[in-house]
Amino acid sequence: MARSSSAGAFAGRVIRWQRAHGRRDLPWQGGRDPYRIWVSEVMLQQTQVAAAIPYYLRFVHRFPDVRALAVAPAADVMAAWAGLGYYTRARNLHRCAQFVVERHGGEFPRSVRALSELPGIGRSTAAAIAAFAFGARAAILDGNVKRVLARHFGVAGYPGTAAVERQLWTLAEELLPGDGIEAYTQGLMDLGATLCVRTRPRCGACPVARSCVALAQGRTAELPAPRPARVRPLRHATVVIIRDDDGATLLETRPPTGIWGGLVSLPEFDADASDQALRTSIADRYEFDVVLEGSLPHVRHEFSHYSLVMQPRLARIRRALGASDCAARLVGRDALRESALPAPIRRLLQQVDGDAGVR
Ligand code: SF4
Repeated sequence: MARSSSAGAFAGRVIRWQRAHGRRDLPWQGGRDPYRIWVSEVMLQQTQVAAAIPYYLRFVHRFPDVRALAVAPAADVMAAWAGLGYYTRARNLHRCAQFVVERHGGEFPRSVRALSELPGIGRSTAAAIAAFAFGARAAILDGNVKRVLARHFGVAGYPGTAAVERQLWTLAEELLPGDGIEAYTQGLMDLGATLCVRTRPRCGACPVARSCVALAQGRTAELPAPRPARVRPLRHATVVIIRDDDGATLLETRPPTGIWGGLVSLPEFDADASDQALRTSIADRYEFDVVLEGSLPHVRHEFSHYSLVMQPRLARIRRALGASDCAARLVGRDALRESALPAPIRRLLQQVDGDAGVR
């Protein structure tokens, strides 16, 4: 564990380095609005900074404060998030905004404990919001910070296990500086994102290299320990691009929970359905008589718990059989561009139509 003098030295070096070399002009920096800090922190949980910036700018333009987000239709929130992945984050963001308005009068609570009780805000995100918005002395421990601490202090074991995570939280708490919490918190994030990166860390430029255990012992490649190997189960499905003669595409709103919950996507069927079974299912579910017109190459997409292999099929609507009461509708080309499509489905439609069809 860190002793207080070496902890002070570590924090001091991180703070000085951040002030001289860290990132200071990201669009969510330079203000203390907890709403904007919260949106950026949630986006950055599973998305790199460069990829998150355009989404962040569009999102806060569309929903400039917590009240605007709270009253927005769920479909608009999902559309603003579409393409970022990990959609539970968007659903939680929406629920959390409503919670903040209903229970806290539209003001974010200031304590880490109260912040971490909000939907979708874990201990590390709560600490980041409290530090950046309110100057609270609170420890963060996201994936980047775990890597920096595991290497610098030579902590063995996979950080996803409870015992190793506890050890890292203890370290993170012990290292907190008395002053400069914003620069320190940002410095740890910057260090993990720009120097102490997963492969080939740039130790030559690192402000804490002189006290780094992994560097001294030549173990930067083996720390932190990787997640134990796990075979991801494979799931197969058939997705059908069903279109009418005007080129409108049948899209279905997915249930609010589960994979791609709340987004709109292509109708999905059993992978082993025969052509006849597919046509019958489409007629039963959507009230359309279709002609199946061919297949496209398989598309594979990795979720955290399984891999999905999709067999895309093309179908043309021959005639409507009646009024369907399911959550599907024909979407013209212009509306398709604005639809909250999952990224792999958007890419698939781009392949079919070329970039002019779906952005
Ligand atoms: S010296 Fe290298 S391994 Fe150690 S904290 Fe710095 S960048 Fe990471």
